[in-house]
Amino acid sequence: MSELNDQQVATLDRLLVEREQSLKVDVHEHIGRLRKIGDVIENDAGGDLADQADIEQQREEENGAVVRDVRELRAIESAQRRIARGEGGICIDCGDSIDFSRLLVQPTALRCVFCQSAAEHVAMLTASAESGVAGMGR
Ligand SMILES: [Zn+2]
Repeated sequence: MSELNDQQVATLDRLLVEREQSLKVDVHEHIGRLRKIGDVIENDAGGDLADQADIEQQREEENGAVVRDVRELRAIESAQRRIARGEGGICIDCGDSIDFSRLLVQPTALRCVFCQSAAEHVAMLTASAESGVAGMGR
């Protein structure tokens, strides 16, 4: 029982494909820059420390960007699978339909606004409990 009509499914599909393509271009660019950074490190092992720190930082930023892009690409794939199964636009937590306006902004959204903010709240509490700030223990 899909909550989305055909036109909405088509719109989401198009948004997901567009996002996927731009992410793939992005990943390609980051990997190109990582290769260049790798070359610089190899060819200039004796550079001064400030330069090395700078290059290391660039490498970390590029790596982080690739990780984020790949994560989003996976989210896109799973959104596409959900749509294919007729589960697109249905909140994974409460089973209600997700506002289409929300899906237009974030086509990979898995939860309705209410469940998303609840999930973020829990994640925040868990993170602070783990870092020992709010040891609420269960
Ligand atoms: Zn929900």
